[in-house]
Amino acid sequence: MPKFVYDFTEGNKDLKDLLGGKGANLSEMTNLGLPVPPGFTITTEACRHYLAEGAVPAGLAEEITEHLTALEGTMGKKLGQADDPLLVSVRSGAKFSMPGMMDTVLNIGLNDESVLGLAAQSGNERFAWDSYRRLIQMFGKTVLGVDGELFEESLEELKHAKGTTDDLDLTAADFQKLVGTFKGIVRERTGREFPTEPREQMDLAVKAVFDSWNSDRAILYRRQERIPTDLGTAVNICSMVFGNLGMDSGTGVAFTRDPASGQQGVYGDYLQNAQGEDVVAGIRNTVPLADLGQINEPVYRQLLQIMETLENHYLDLCDIEFTVERGKLWMLQTRVGKRTAAAAFRIACQLADQGLIDLNEAIHRVNGDQLAQLMFPRFDAAAPKEQIAKGMNASPGAAVGKAVFSSEAAVEAAARGEKVILVRRETTPDDLTGMIAAQGILTSRGGKTSHAAVVARGMGKTCVCGAEDLDVDVKARRLKTGDVVVQEGDVLSIDGSTGAVYLGEVPVSASPVVRYFEGELAPADGDELVQSVHRLMVHADAAARLAVRANADTPEDSERARRFGATGIGLCRTEHMFLGERRQLVEDLILATSDAEREAALDALAPFQKEDFHGILKAMDGLPVTIRLIDPPLHEFLPDLTELSVKVALAGADASDKDRRLLEAVHRLHEQNPMLGLRGVRLGLVIPGLFAMQVRAIAEAAAQRLSEGGDPRPEIMIPLVGSIQELEHAREEAEQVLRSVGGEVKALIGTMIELPRAALTAGQIAEGAEFFSFGTNDLTQTTWGFSRDDVEASFFSRYLELGVFGVSPFETLDRDGVGRLVRIAVEEGRRTRPDLKLGVCGEHGGDPESVHFFHEVGLDYVSCSPFRVPVARLEAGRAAV
Ligand code: ADP
Ligand code: MG
Ligand code: MG
Repeated sequence: MPKFVYDFTEGNKDLKDLLGGKGANLSEMTNLGLPVPPGFTITTEACRHYLAEGAVPAGLAEEITEHLTALEGTMGKKLGQADDPLLVSVRSGAKFSMPGMMDTVLNIGLNDESVLGLAAQSGNERFAWDSYRRLIQMFGKTVLGVDGELFEESLEELKHAKGTTDDLDLTAADFQKLVGTFKGIVRERTGREFPTEPREQMDLAVKAVFDSWNSDRAILYRRQERIPTDLGTAVNICSMVFGNLGMDSGTGVAFTRDPASGQQGVYGDYLQNAQGEDVVAGIRNTVPLADLGQINEPVYRQLLQIMETLENHYLDLCDIEFTVERGKLWMLQTRVGKRTAAAAFRIACQLADQGLIDLNEAIHRVNGDQLAQLMFPRFDAAAPKEQIAKGMNASPGAAVGKAVFSSEAAVEAAARGEKVILVRRETTPDDLTGMIAAQGILTSRGGKTSHAAVVARGMGKTCVCGAEDLDVDVKARRLKTGDVVVQEGDVLSIDGSTGAVYLGEVPVSASPVVRYFEGELAPADGDELVQSVHRLMVHADAAARLAVRANADTPEDSERARRFGATGIGLCRTEHMFLGERRQLVEDLILATSDAEREAALDALAPFQKEDFHGILKAMDGLPVTIRLIDPPLHEFLPDLTELSVKVALAGADASDKDRRLLEAVHRLHEQNPMLGLRGVRLGLVIPGLFAMQVRAIAEAAAQRLSEGGDPRPEIMIPLVGSIQELEHAREEAEQVLRSVGGEVKALIGTMIELPRAALTAGQIAEGAEFFSFGTNDLTQTTWGFSRDDVEASFFSRYLELGVFGVSPFETLDRDGVGRLVRIAVEEGRRTRPDLKLGVCGEHGGDPESVHFFHEVGLDYVSCSPFRVPVARLEAGRAAV
């Protein structure tokens, strides 16, 4: 039979799975020789058994008795003993701290007799009756399920009747009266008497703690925090110490350093003559911890000493709970404390400076999500604001701009140099250009996995989605909420970190961390945060095996990526170069009916392409630039079918010849499933000259760079290959073009792996590819058979609820399925070609968890949006040490 109960002297901090965080750390402090009131812990295993079977495991009661008897021996008194009672607290404590989720009952062991014993022993009647009424109150609420308000109300009434608002004005007689009232509440609400038998009180409280694991609040919290549902909680039985024995007693909480800044010093609150949760409950005003120095100097010094011991032992910031009983200090809890993102970076460096941890450990004390948080601009907290709606905080940041209601308006305004917020009911892939042009995106529909949210996060762009109070009228170009009307051109401010929508301009400040990455702020000129980020980034870069490249399609983006530390471009999407005024030329290409027409159209596009590539190769001089040949279905470049049909129909006989031909082409190219249709390498094989034009533009741009004394390193990437034959055809054409351009120009030719068939035949495909780049967005779509644009809005939230996956596979790579294909392709590809270069493009390249996976499977680099590059660098370093 497993051991279900551990004395505080038997456990240690590494047993959190079994003893929960609180129990493991109470044991650890006990072992460190710190003053912890004796007690024992009932394991999470006992809880799991109870929850599964509906009854506590056989033998648990006896084991508890054994430990209780030992505790009574140590304390020299018995639980609830009439003349001198041992009292205990029954405290929950799961592996992960779940603040406020599970409840604790203090003063177990009091009843009508032992309260008198406690009064006599302590010489303090008021204290004894106060403790008793607290027991009935907490027990009534937590164990018996009585509405806690009822107790609060009678306490308030009593205070009101006495003309006071302060508990300290209540006397022993008042509390005695309250005990009577509270018992009456219990009787009335539960139909039973308050249980007075001490062991029964304890056993009922233990079960209540077990049950609280499945309370609605706990379930909700676990879902939000992604804590597994089957861990269960431990229960700690801890002998009571009393902070409510008089003004020489009290209770407090403290941090070993400031959790907001990391500064060492004295941080905490203290409350005299109080018990347990009074400090956090805000019943009376606490005093700053430093004041304890005046109240009781020796205790204060002992506390500071203990905090130092704890920091040196846990090698991290700790938070603690303590109680002073008649001038004696007791430690009731400690754990490694939560902290802000900024404090995490500072503390990691501070601890390294103090020699407590090394830099490898320091980069594990921070993470990419925290770094990302530090990079977002913020609204000035002090500025006046008029909030008009609240949506979901889909992609953090603070964005200000004029409201626009269409992508075209966004693009036009941006071209005029204006900042805009794109407001839509929801976005579709058609809104991409508008989203790129906008400062931020605001939608009235859709959740955190809606198109707007996902795309915005990928772009590092601020987004508030699902602001349902907003009535968005795209046609009329305005939105309404209450009696506020926002017309196109009116200024909005949106906070992607909170979901708030404000009318008018709220002042924003750029993050100093971004200014550092941009090179505008030298590390030495930055504050402690900037210096800490710098140090940890330098170390992460040195430690990393994975290189980090960026996805960028313009010279500006490439330059920024380079400043942010990218060592190449992993994905340059050429289709973005066919938008705007060049769309016209693409239309000509599609409408071409003869070779001559087609060639003329391609010739017209070629100079633009060459110019684009030249700029990017220049910005990334000396670094690899992977250029993906055109990928999306051609109809994306044509007008919308419905709009064009209406236009042609309205024009009737007057419709232009071009419009008629366009309409024909739109019909011809219309596909049921464009994602699985004529796109990628298929386009290259079907439309003669298209890929050749692109390759020629790349080669000529490279040649020009060479003649300018540059060092161009283009890599030509063929998308959506499923078989080696497809790749061979595209490759031959590309090689022929490269030869014809001649000179010194060299370019690697490789392919994307984004279809299951490509992954499964990677051994063959590697014969024709010098590199693979995993296109994990499409690979996820094709592996799961999910059309991302459809499923995220329609059923992903249900899937997340059902736990089909804990997080969208488009956010974090699905290791078991998609990841398996990646592994196969890596192994088989390298078997064919040991020097095969392997990378990943697609949003997973900037996702911390996925970066760790790519490190594990041995890729050479990840590629992500420029804004995510620092995050990926940090995670690449963390993955390596
Ligand atoms: P939580 O996880 O909500 O903080 P705790 O189990 O830590 O719950 O207890 C709630 C409060 O009661 C805390 O302030 C704690 O310090 C106090 N407390 C718990 N056990 C004892 C005890 N044996 N003696 C005195 N105070 C206690
Ligand atoms: Mg609590
Ligand atoms: Mg606590």
